[in-house]
Amino acid sequence: MRLAILKESAPGETRVALLPDAVKLLIAKGLDVSIESNAGLASGHTDEAYLQAGATLATDRTSLLASADILPLVNAPLAQDQRNLKPGAVAIGFLRPLDDPATLLPAVESGVTLFAVELVPRITRAQAMDALSSMATVAGYKAVILAADTLPRLFPMLMTAAGTIAPARVFVIGAGVAGLQAIATARRLGAVVEAYDVRAAAGEQVRSLGAKFLDVDLGGLATEDKGGYAKELSEEALDRGRDLIAKTARTADVIITTAQVPGRRAPLLIRRDAVENMRSGTIVVDLAAPAGGNCELTHPGETQLINGVTLFAPLNLPAAVPGHASQLYSRNITNFLALIVKGGALHLDMDDEIIRGSCVSHEGKIVNPRVATALEAHTAAPASS
Ligand code: NAD
Repeated sequence: MRLAILKESAPGETRVALLPDAVKLLIAKGLDVSIESNAGLASGHTDEAYLQAGATLATDRTSLLASADILPLVNAPLAQDQRNLKPGAVAIGFLRPLDDPATLLPAVESGVTLFAVELVPRITRAQAMDALSSMATVAGYKAVILAADTLPRLFPMLMTAAGTIAPARVFVIGAGVAGLQAIATARRLGAVVEAYDVRAAAGEQVRSLGAKFLDVDLGGLATEDKGGYAKELSEEALDRGRDLIAKTARTADVIITTAQVPGRRAPLLIRRDAVENMRSGTIVVDLAAPAGGNCELTHPGETQLINGVTLFAPLNLPAAVPGHASQLYSRNITNFLALIVKGGALHLDMDDEIIRGSCVSHEGKIVNPRVATALEAHTAAPASS
């Protein structure tokens, strides 16, 4: 059974789905691994390293795809690549099945079994496969590094013969996986950190990292769902958060915003007037940009200078740290493959919660109800997508 590793085709993508050490492990388990030439180069892994791990090198992408039984991916493949896969092949990656389901139709129609890492249920057994958390960790770290590199000030407090420098003030909005990593990174660099989240449970985690948690009185409103995620809030409840954010942002040097509600557009939390009242030199990194952004002025993918405030809205920050982002992702994928490959052959047990939960399509049909609904909405209103 052949596993194929592609050179990712999305513009700016530097990550690779599997690293040489994972390839070695999979070959030991009876798989035959073939890699497209230079697939790992941007993340620091040469063809030579894959060859040494036991992979073969492919220069023809079309025949590599046609021979693949398993295709681990970072991003959804292009339509033509999907059509080149054979029926019954398995592809797994960040397929954006809820945001962009129509792009997966060529693979669905070709009878490819698709698994989306975004849909892996966040249960304890699946923690080692949680690619969302892996990438959020990298993004949270890198957001602070990006801000520190751009800020016209230093992060730590310094007492020098030339005077005392006050520490940078960092404000983190949304204390989930990315937000907590941003807090930890900013603290390590010596900043004073404040954080806000609608989930009261986040408060303890924020404080344990040495940051101050900002509370908003929402009158006992339930803000968390059964899965531990934030719920979508009313405009009135959101406004209370927006007021607190506007007030705190006036004295912040750096604002890292990460707030998301699964399956929805990211909540708008930083109003235009909040940006207008920020000090010149403030850096905002909107990590929710891929879901539309938390700031009213965000243009996803663009960096803007607005009255001296720099607003970053990166769409793929993990790709700026390709070595470790690929390492974590490769491990997540390897752990997922251990679930679906038994004795060197594919074994898709659809009664397994993780396999069923993450499966988008099987035998020519969309099998995930949420994806089917997203596709219907997309087909009904293609102009708004
Ligand atoms: P996420 O990316 O969906 O959201 C990021 C943060 O934004 C969350 O903390 C959320 O509460 C916050 N947020 C949403 N709306 C907001 C608003 N209006 N104002 C302020 N903040 C808002 O979340 P995530 O980082 O993927 O994880 C969220 C939760 O899931 C956390 O409790 C985390 O510990 C938990 N989790 C569990 C597992 C597991 O395996 N069990 C894995 C990962 C995360």
